[in-house]
Amino acid sequence: MSVPRRDPELIVAGHCMQLERFVRRGGPWRPIEFGSAVAILPHPGGGVALFDTGYAPRFHAATARLPYRLYSALLPVSCAEPDAAVSQLAARGMAADEVKLVVLSHLHGDHVAGLRDFPRARVVLGDGALAPGWRTASAWRNTAHGFVPALLPDDVEQRLMPLAELPVAGTGLGGWLRNGHDLFGDGTAFVLPLPGHAEGHLGLWLPGWGADGVLLAGDAVWHERAITHGELPLPFLRGRRPAYEQVVAELARLHRERPDLAIVPSHCNASLSRIRRG
Ligand SMILES: [Zn+2]
Repeated sequence: MSVPRRDPELIVAGHCMQLERFVRRGGPWRPIEFGSAVAILPHPGGGVALFDTGYAPRFHAATARLPYRLYSALLPVSCAEPDAAVSQLAARGMAADEVKLVVLSHLHGDHVAGLRDFPRARVVLGDGALAPGWRTASAWRNTAHGFVPALLPDDVEQRLMPLAELPVAGTGLGGWLRNGHDLFGDGTAFVLPLPGHAEGHLGLWLPGWGADGVLLAGDAVWHERAITHGELPLPFLRGRRPAYEQVVAELARLHRERPDLAIVPSHCNASLSRIRRG
């Protein structure tokens, strides 16, 4: 029988290439690897919870045809079978069926491609993330929004856990972030709305991890220097403003007040490797 690790862990499930200048103001116009982070979280009731699911090899098939092929052409993706979250979990002795809960920061393909590998998991999504009529929306519109519906499980709606089902509780983070949705009901993990990048975008606050807690920021920013030095992505990549910029300002406030608290964007190689080194 497999035994899940007791400590949370961040893994990288595949990556794409992106121009660094797109990611942060003042950065060079050179391509950089953009890893897709997945957090593996022990579930106090047994089993495992995940924050995001990263890429999986099915992303290639799901984006093989136009217009979705534009997505993979603009952001070339590398993800072989061993890179998928489900394979990395298996290597740690965790079966896919042990994953009981998946929190998705948002529905862009690089965060949801692994979801079909976890058929027993309930899925936590932000309010409005899954638009009504999503199954019949125009493929061109989906592509423009980075949404590839074929990546979602057929029964995703039956497995949704609305945020309203999770109790609201104080996070200790102050400001906008002072309340979150208590994921396990024991104060160890809080789902935080971090709007702007995408509809219903979420982060996850883990107060007991690291020196002063870990805030998984999803795509609220792509690079930690957006928080520490105000180096935001190019304006057309800032999603819904002003919410996007207000969230960045709030994360910068948190960083100033609690420098030992690790704020980890999903694709920030620097902050990912710092956490992964422990
Ligand atoms: Zn995104």
